[in-house]
Amino acid sequence: METIRTAAWMKQKARAARQEQKIIGLVPTMGALHAGHMALVGRAKHECSPVYASIFLNPKQFAANEDLSRYPRPLEADVEKLRSAKVDGLFLPDAAEIYPAGFSTYVQVDGLSERLEGRSRAGHFRGVSTVVLKLFEIVQPNFAYFGRKDAQQVRIVQQMARDLNLDIEIVVCPIVREADGLALSSRNTYLSAEDRKAATVLYRALRAAETEIASGVRDALYLQGTMQKVLHSEPKARVDYAEIVDAETFEPVVRISRRYYAVLAVYIGKTRLIDNMLIEPVGDDLRTEV
Ligand code: AMP
Repeated sequence: METIRTAAWMKQKARAARQEQKIIGLVPTMGALHAGHMALVGRAKHECSPVYASIFLNPKQFAANEDLSRYPRPLEADVEKLRSAKVDGLFLPDAAEIYPAGFSTYVQVDGLSERLEGRSRAGHFRGVSTVVLKLFEIVQPNFAYFGRKDAQQVRIVQQMARDLNLDIEIVVCPIVREADGLALSSRNTYLSAEDRKAATVLYRALRAAETEIASGVRDALYLQGTMQKVLHSEPKARVDYAEIVDAETFEPVVRISRRYYAVLAVYIGKTRLIDNMLIEPVGDDLRTEV
């Protein structure tokens, strides 16, 4: 597996692959790879050749008070995982390569970027959409793979792709979880043993809402109340938000009938975790997927 550190070289490789009519797959990550990331890689390997993964800890999507400096960076282990998965190339630029002196252009997806995660993390999605567009320009993928774990992020990327006429298929992959339901996340390494136990409360809250939906509840406020109740039963949990939102607009809803997400952001101690459940209609019924 080749490691590519410059945008110019990555572009040249991509251009050559495109000229040979190859189907390029891209899996963008911030590193500290786990089975969630590797599921995206697996899907990409199934559908594309060559497959490029990128590892770039994007400073522009971290607010000043966030965890950029202590974010885990186990680069050697990451490289080994990608090599074992037979990824064709790792795009590993440093910050100066992506944001050279004088960098001053940003992508802002209005509306969607201001709600929920955007409200709690000022500037976060502007940083995400900017870096994702740059990665798309540099790697020139036909397919790009994202996890539903970050449902609002992938919705924003889809909106950007649509608004800017990008010729890239955005593929959304299911959430990979631990045996006890905790969604895999690079940030789970911050959790103490006790926090780790408490962290399952996000999954338990989603499952409680799921059970109520299965028994016929359609009132979004009632379902939010259920999730809040479960979350508040865990003394280590501090809720940032627990809402049912429209899957297109991420606006709050009253009655569930179309495609929705139940979305959670919860602090366990000092660690902020997010999770979600997809709710979608099938015929006259609703299907849920945590
Ligand atoms: P990150 O390194 O956190 O930026 O994540 C890179 C990609 O992996 C994003 O598209 C995430 O949504 C996806 N991802 C992270 N955790 C999971 C998970 N538990 N299951 C599925 N995809 C995930």
